[in-house]
Amino acid sequence: MHDFHYKGDELFCEEVAIQHIVEQVGTPCYIYSHRTLIRHFHAFDEAFHDIPHLIAYAMKANSNIAVLKLLAKEGSGADIVSGGELFRALKAGVPSDKIVFAGVGKSPKEIRYALESNILMFNVESPGELLQIDEVARTMNVRARVALRINPDIDPQTHPYISTGLKKSKFGIASDQALKEFELASQLAHIDVIGVHCHIGSQLTKVAPFVDAIKKVLHLIQTLKSQGMDIRYMNIGGGLGITYSEETPPHPKELAAAISPLLQTISCQIIMEPGRSIVGNAGILVTRVLYNKEGTNKQFVIVDAAMNDLLRPSLYDAHHDIQPVLKNESAPVNTVDVVGPICESGDFLAKDRKMPQPQSGDLLAVMSAGAYGFTMASNYNSRPKTPEVLVKDHHMMVIRERESYEDLIRGESIPEIFE
Ligand SMILES: *Cc1c(COP(=O)(O)O)cnc(C)c1O
Repeated sequence: MHDFHYKGDELFCEEVAIQHIVEQVGTPCYIYSHRTLIRHFHAFDEAFHDIPHLIAYAMKANSNIAVLKLLAKEGSGADIVSGGELFRALKAGVPSDKIVFAGVGKSPKEIRYALESNILMFNVESPGELLQIDEVARTMNVRARVALRINPDIDPQTHPYISTGLKKSKFGIASDQALKEFELASQLAHIDVIGVHCHIGSQLTKVAPFVDAIKKVLHLIQTLKSQGMDIRYMNIGGGLGITYSEETPPHPKELAAAISPLLQTISCQIIMEPGRSIVGNAGILVTRVLYNKEGTNKQFVIVDAAMNDLLRPSLYDAHHDIQPVLKNESAPVNTVDVVGPICESGDFLAKDRKMPQPQSGDLLAVMSAGAYGFTMASNYNSRPKTPEVLVKDHHMMVIRERESYEDLIRGESIPEIFE
């Protein structure tokens, strides 16, 4: 559920007309609903109220510092995957003892930054990384808290690019290697092994893969505990799907109903890392139609947003609903490709989409764009990045300005020998 709705023929975010926002900041632009963000966070938090848990919001989904601050104020922590994300999380006031650090390629510099910041723990993805963390911690004369990320070899039945828990995946440590790695970890002088982590993929629309993965992890934790290891945290990752078009993913309550009984069998603090399910439907990308173009056997609607602004359709063939900001009941329904200005055939927002034919100048809302939208944006074709706007009730707040042409060349220079 979200807070983008029509009043009459006009699309609103909460109490603010999209048209009004566009008049202030232009197009393309991202718009997020404060109310939706809060509701989604609490839906998760309340679903698991009867077990001790920490929600470490996966900030790679949407890392604007205003979004982070808003979630942190509700009690959220952060799941980070880089030094840059750690910087953002700390800037936004996420308490360092609620920050967990995942990712297969943490550099020594990032490890040092995280240790200096005293984050809750690293989610370690390989033996090599474990030794690196031990080494950095040794030079700093501290101990690093870690969980090992287990690859439970579960098929999450989602898009191959976003499934992470299969044997062939680069993520985590294979289940059959896990005991050996935990033993190794527990012998390192500057490592405290405190948890087990697992994250099997993204946009999961069934509870069964979660249940299967958790059963495997529980079994491992019981074995580790019986061997005297003090495992205090079980991190079940993120991955709960959202509705982009026809999907019917479980509500956090249904997920909780299926897995809470399992989680209650273990005396561990539970960490979860939802990303998409918190922010995905809390945001839209608004774009203006530039031209209608008649192809040989296609009709193109050319808009001012492109794959550099929203990569998911090009990268994953992902579906995003596209709705008019102003409904026009008399427009004929046509099948069109909605494409951007970038010089790539892969630059599209929708293909063969049946929709009321928009006209040049019309505004379109690309729905469910709050997750992996702006965070995947680039400057390809030297296109300045879009602004981001947060709406709360009757107020709109610009939480990121549109980039200028000067921003595009910031840091670049022409060597003197060229003069
Ligand atoms: C991406 C990611 C998440 C969040 O996934 P969503 O599908 O957005 O919920 C959580 N944990 C880890 C380790 C991730 O890489």
